[in-house]
Amino acid sequence: MPVAFEPCRPTLLETTTTVSYPVRRVFCVGRNYEAHAREMGRDPDREPPFFFTKWAETVVNADPQDACHVAYPPETHNFHFEIELVVAMGGHAFRIDAAEAEQVIWGYAVGLDMTRRDLQLEARDLGRPWDTGKNVEQSSPMGRLVAKDAARVNGFNPGAGRITLSVDGIAKQDADLSELIWPVEDIVAHISLFYRLAPGDLIFTGTPAGVGAVVPGNRLAGEIAGLPPLEITIAPPAGS
Ligand code: MN
Repeated sequence: MPVAFEPCRPTLLETTTTVSYPVRRVFCVGRNYEAHAREMGRDPDREPPFFFTKWAETVVNADPQDACHVAYPPETHNFHFEIELVVAMGGHAFRIDAAEAEQVIWGYAVGLDMTRRDLQLEARDLGRPWDTGKNVEQSSPMGRLVAKDAARVNGFNPGAGRITLSVDGIAKQDADLSELIWPVEDIVAHISLFYRLAPGDLIFTGTPAGVGAVVPGNRLAGEIAGLPPLEITIAPPAGS
């Protein structure tokens, strides 16, 4: 049967090899660094990390060569950066143990979980879903994805390594992956309790302290030790 219109193609994430990585779903972990949980007004001792989801189409390629522009989104006056380690799934996982997680991971990348903070906090405080705050068009820029073995050769270690974000050359976030409350393997195992994880699924692992607002014209640069960097420029609102 013919289709009514041409279906959307999956978002294709650039990798450091000749293949691209088709994005299926995006999971994001909240409050996975103690200092960030505290800056959001929460006590990480009493509140375990949790996750939410975003559309695959929020992912945009943000290799520094791409000159990636992210339009300042509508209906916000407080658009925030959150630098994060992103895990890309390469195998299927359902109700697995943390010890089995490594073998179902395809690779790793640097990512941004851009957030309409005013809408997110309003939703949080009213007990409403976070979608308008978090599931924002163009809100998941990513550096090039690296296969896990190649990443390790480059010195990347998902358990330890510096993670930084600067705005116009000024350091804003500076932490270490060893500070993750839930390590990568635990996150994969936990989400697999609820969903059948599959190749194409991305997991943003949470942001460290130092999040803040951007304005059009800002240039954001994110780095994690051993991974390709990320760079975006905030553009004026689309249609303005
Ligand atoms: Mn986040």
